[in-house]
Amino acid sequence: MKISKYGCVEMKHRSAEKVLEKTSAMTKEQELTFWCLRTKTLMEHKFELSSCQMLFTTYENRNNPHITIHCSTCNQLRKQGGKGHGQYRKHACYNKARSYAETTDLPIRDCFFCKPQSSILKTVIK
Ligand SMILES: [Zn+2]
Repeated sequence: MKISKYGCVEMKHRSAEKVLEKTSAMTKEQELTFWCLRTKTLMEHKFELSSCQMLFTTYENRNNPHITIHCSTCNQLRKQGGKGHGQYRKHACYNKARSYAETTDLPIRDCFFCKPQSSILKTVIK
């Protein structure tokens, strides 16, 4: 068996155990409330981050004509170390990234992996 030096699976199992400790004695209604509150807290946290950081990056490639919108933390960006054949630009929010992409006249793609368009939900849920 290969052992990851980051222990991701072990970390995931520990987190799951902590959640189970908190929720195992709860009724279904209490557990639903627990998850709603946790989700709301997460969404609020993400919203706070988005208001103070550049969260989106566009990758613009003229050789293979397209522009892709990514969350700035996307692993696909890190794979190439930000040194692909195209140009990278940072944007403060998804809509600004989208508006920029529309000015390039390139086919626009939302990254399949990080799904940046789903970040719009945070403003709806709040
Ligand atoms: Zn991405």
